[in-house]
Amino acid sequence: MIRDESTDQSDEILARRGEFVPPALDGFAQEISLSAADWRVAMKVAIRSSSQLRSLLGLTPENSGNGGDHSREEPNLLPSEQDFPTFVPLEFLSRIRPGDPSDPLLRQVLPVSAEDLDSPGFTADPVGDLKMMPATGVLHKYEGRALLITTGACGVHCRYCFRREFPYTDASANGKSVESALAYLSEHEEIEEVLLSGGDPLTLVDERLQSIVDGIATHSHVKRLRVHTRMPIVIPQRVTSSLIKLFAETRLVTWFVVHVNHPRELDHHVLDHLGRLVDAGIPVLNQAVLLRGVNDSVEVLEELCEKLINHRIQPYYLHQLDRVRGASHFEVSVDRGLQIMQALRERLPGYAVPKYVVEQAGEKSKTPVV
Ligand SMILES: *Cc1c(COP(=O)(O)O)cnc(C)c1O
Ligand code: SF4
Repeated sequence: MIRDESTDQSDEILARRGEFVPPALDGFAQEISLSAADWRVAMKVAIRSSSQLRSLLGLTPENSGNGGDHSREEPNLLPSEQDFPTFVPLEFLSRIRPGDPSDPLLRQVLPVSAEDLDSPGFTADPVGDLKMMPATGVLHKYEGRALLITTGACGVHCRYCFRREFPYTDASANGKSVESALAYLSEHEEIEEVLLSGGDPLTLVDERLQSIVDGIATHSHVKRLRVHTRMPIVIPQRVTSSLIKLFAETRLVTWFVVHVNHPRELDHHVLDHLGRLVDAGIPVLNQAVLLRGVNDSVEVLEELCEKLINHRIQPYYLHQLDRVRGASHFEVSVDRGLQIMQALRERLPGYAVPKYVVEQAGEKSKTPVV
């Protein structure tokens, strides 16, 4: 079932060039198509500053959504950007509408000065993860499941992410400390499922992933692997046939959980690569975060859920925003969230309706919002 990808690499960016390549991007696009759109090249040439992002999209600082705060204008980085840099692959950029400062995809990735406002209740570690780390790189909050922080790197930097404040260099199971994470597994026979998370595990090269997966598979009590990743969305060519093979061939039953918030994130490249995972027998679920100005409407979420099930991907969770410092401008009230959920239930097949949940420190599971 795994398709040959010999034709895959050249069609990636070339096919997209007719769709949208901002003039200033031509050099980049050429570089990528010349390099056959390798995902590692895509990581290297990703946009790394808000000023670059704005200028590529034809946005001036005035209409860029920074509330008219001219004191912090380009070319200097916003303060929030110094702590959590801009990182946007060109593949994702190509789906953003040029000239529209309130584009729902752009909002997810563009640093704005609102991130620097302090809001009561928005903190550095809202879900209490740092207290729940029994070994380096392991989060064991829920029964039977342990989460491995495999890396701090991501294929995109989402401005609302609770991990924006996470001390990755200390916490991730990099290099030698994967050993300590694996040792933890051997002492906990009740763990049947291991989640690969981060950061984004698919920013690791195949060799590294293979050794982590093999290390986990040696523990006979572990039955399942779950890969939490946004890479197939932001750099779809990361889903190579060798990556699929790696997960299709391990003894561990593997599930993928991707992260899409808006239907426009799903272009035909993304859907094609996700389809290859499903073809290989790997179920794919989606989680979304309810975000103001991105997907806080019935129509947008309905369209997202429909698009997902039309492509064999099941909506899993709709997360209430974690109250991380710098993300308060993304918050949608629980009342509004519940209203939207009710409308979704009325409009969609039951299996297309995600569970609306919030993560609360100290709870034994994600908490349903009711
Ligand atoms: C969310 C989460 C899981 C998985 O929870 P499910 O409800 O099974 O998806 C596991 N471990 C940690 C630390 C988590 O945050
Ligand atoms: S962990 Fe996920 S949500 Fe957070 S920045 Fe990385 S890709 Fe985005």
